[in-house]
Amino acid sequence: MYAINHAATALLLRKKESTLPLLPLLISVQLVEILWVLFNYLGWEHFSISGGAVHLDFLPYSHSIFSGVVAAALSFCVISRGYHNRKLAVAFAIGVMSHVFIDLVFHEKDIQLSPFSTTPVFGLGIIDHPFLNFAVEFAYGLFCWWYFKGGKALLWVIIVFNVIDLPIMLAHGDALTPFMHYPFLLPSVILFQILITWYFVYRYATSKGGQQPVNKFKLNPHHR
Ligand SMILES: [Zn+2]
Repeated sequence: MYAINHAATALLLRKKESTLPLLPLLISVQLVEILWVLFNYLGWEHFSISGGAVHLDFLPYSHSIFSGVVAAALSFCVISRGYHNRKLAVAFAIGVMSHVFIDLVFHEKDIQLSPFSTTPVFGLGIIDHPFLNFAVEFAYGLFCWWYFKGGKALLWVIIVFNVIDLPIMLAHGDALTPFMHYPFLLPSVILFQILITWYFVYRYATSKGGQQPVNKFKLNPHHR
């Protein structure tokens, strides 16, 4: 899944616990991806380009079910003990786990159960069908916005970043050559996407008018 829609997951967590600060939730849903960027820079994980497409060959440390659970458990301990905020600790841990489980839907079969064995590997492979990938991600991003009851500006952030992602989803063949020659380029592009979507989602989800006014829904007490 692309950065904007991982970031949108933080809106779901924030809506459930509206007293929680948004910034740590935005970090939680991308912690696994930040690790992927770091591990690629370090050469511990790697991707390849073949058959005109990017393949995430080796990412068992950042993106395995086991490491997702461990990262979530560690985050929970650090936040609940270090900051004495159990609610934030639970939400952060769910955010960390959400990343791996959402990626399972989109990735090719490249997500291992644990870093210790190369089988079994999981991934529904929606990424291999760019238009389906676009439609599913866009619908998910819009759902997160709707659930959060975001304002117009936040809606535009989700629309614009999803539309920008489409040409990246469709990229194949020669367009990928630079990524082959400069292995640091893909992790850098992804890091940039993470940072810029953090900024825009944070800015427009927390600004005045970032959420629709609550009293609008007071007419119907059963409205969530
Ligand atoms: Zn990921």
